[in-house]
Formats: sequence, structure tokens, C-alpha cells
Amino acid sequence: MSLAYVALGANLGDPAATVRAAFAALSNLPDSRLLRTSSLYRTAPVGLADQPEFINAAAALETSLTPEALLDTLFDIEARFGRIRAERNGPRTLDLDLLLYDNLSLALPRLTLPHPRLHLRAFVLYPLAEIAPGLDIPGRGPVTAWLPAVANQGIARL
Ligand code: ADP
Ligand code: MG
Repeated sequence: MSLAYVALGANLGDPAATVRAAFAALSNLPDSRLLRTSSLYRTAPVGLADQPEFINAAAALETSLTPEALLDTLFDIEARFGRIRAERNGPRTLDLDLLLYDNLSLALPRLTLPHPRLHLRAFVLYPLAEIAPGLDIPGRGPVTAWLPAVANQGIARL
């Protein structure tokens, strides 16, 4: 079994309810077990400022799915929640990103591991550090070492 971390984000409809429902969907993934879920965090939008606040969270999974199969199941869940892929960084019903998969470093056309921007985003780092405070990001070092640099991004734990 492998250990994977997933980031959840939503900012349309009732985003807190969406994130909780996405946790439930993650707990039903094939060949996987949901190990931990973070608190929900309210965060200011990055990039396009003129859109609702986001609710973000993170989850840890034990899985025997390959990284690409896991990514496909995450895309399936996004689709079930009605995500329309429009603007990058734009509003979305639900965004699921695969942050880490064991210590794997990977650069495939549709999957980069570790997620290339995870160490720069408060809305990923805070929930991730909550569920995995001792985590080491392959190639980047301890997750907690990146927190001070993003503390000014505006994030509140619900
Ligand atoms: P973003 O999450 O950056 O706002 P999208 O969710 O639309 O944007 O993802 C854009 C693309 O990123 C997807 O087509 C996906 O194949 C690719 N991608 C690369 N690496 C990852 C990863 N680790 N997790 C999720 N998507 C990834
Ligand atoms: Mg995404």
C-alpha cells in the first residue's frame, strides 16, 4: 500500500458542504482507505480576486491504486460534483489535487508529483501540516519549514 495526500478546494455553492461530501467520496475510493482528514480552512482566492472565498482541506489515503489511477478517480469525483473546467485558478465546484504519493517524484504530461505549487500555497500547506506535521516533501524538505513564508496569504481554520 502507498500513502497519498490529496488537496480539496471549493468556492461555489455551499463549499463547506461540498468539501465534507468530497471527504465521504474519498472514503469510498476503490482499493483505498481514508486515513485522515484536516479541518476546513477559509482562504482568499489566489489569482483571480473577483470570486468567492475558498474552502480548502487535505486528506491522507492509503491506496493500492497507481498514481495515475488515483488521479483518474479524483477527476471522476470532481466531475460528479459538477466541476466545469473553465479558467485556471477560477471558480470551481470542487478541485481535487494529488499532492504527494509516497516519496515519488514524477513529471508526466498530466501528473506532476509532488504537486508543483504545493509548497507555495497556504491553502495547501496549512491543512497538510495539520494532518502530517512530520511530513517531508520530496526535494523540498519539511512541510512545516514552508509555513512562515505563506503566513501572510490569509487563511483561517473554521
Ligand atoms: P488547478 O488545480 O491548478 O487549478 P486543474 O485542476 O484544472 O488546475 O488542473 C490542471 C491540470 O493539472 C490537470 O489537467 C492535471 O492533469 C494536471 N496535473 C498535473 N499534476 C497534477 C497533480 N499532482 N494533481 C492534480 N492535477 C495535476
Ligand atoms: Mg486541480
